Amino acid sequence: MTEDVHEVYAIRYGHHARRSSENFIGGDPHDVLQPLDYFVWAIVGSAGAIIVDSGFDEAMSRRRQREITKPVRDGLAALGIAPEAITTVIISHLHYDHCGNHELFPNARYHLQDREMEYATGRCMCHQAQRVAFESDDVVAMVRKVFAGRVAFHNGTDEIAPGVTVHHIGGHSKGLQSVRVKTRRGYVMLAADAVHLYAHIDQGRIFPITYNVAEVVEGYEILKKLATSPGHIVPGHDPLVLQRYPAAKPGLEGWVARLDVDTVNG
Ligand SMILES: [Zn+2]
Ligand SMILES: [Zn+2]
Repeated sequence: MTEDVHEVYAIRYGHHARRSSENFIGGDPHDVLQPLDYFVWAIVGSAGAIIVDSGFDEAMSRRRQREITKPVRDGLAALGIAPEAITTVIISHLHYDHCGNHELFPNARYHLQDREMEYATGRCMCHQAQRVAFESDDVVAMVRKVFAGRVAFHNGTDEIAPGVTVHHIGGHSKGLQSVRVKTRRGYVMLAADAVHLYAHIDQGRIFPITYNVAEVVEGYEILKKLATSPGHIVPGHDPLVLQRYPAAKPGLEGWVARLDVDTVNG
């Protein structure tokens, strides 16, 4: 493996059964069951692993009534990754399902967009509609990491490691960033919540929790430009990811998928 080419894995840790009408601005005429899965991602290269997002823990799963299918730590262990060895964590945004498990990576530096910290600590959080997916404990934990010298801020596009770049998208959250990874399959875009489900980007539809609708739909176009093909864009919450991509190894079906290889169907 050359230095800038990486393997990429999606690790499912949670699940929420819900109706499709809850997943789109304007609802959904079919109103069928359309659950969300919850993921963190591992980018594995010759210099070790970079983790994208840190998920949520048991206490938060009860508070938010979302099921934990397998704790994040177990998913990492299934790939042979020890959280204590991780030195780089990219946080796509500060919603509760992306930045919990505050002590899981004690030796990591966290990479965040300027605009996300500004959003999560500023005047927009005075409004229930804007803070609904944020938890003050998560935001405070990140502020404490700032003071501990453990946060690196980015403003727009930046390189995290050779072959790994972050890209500000905004839209769903003011400082949302997606991650581009160079792989043997081409450039894979870990969209995180820039795309919740394939249906959002395929049909130009919008998830209800949104800071700026225009940035959401512009974001879809940015992702298409950055990815080698639309099929290289990985949504942040779609259960179909685990059907379209092969298991990372036998026994991890429905749990950990490998994203730097061709899809198995669809
Ligand atoms: Zn979100
Ligand atoms: Zn999310």
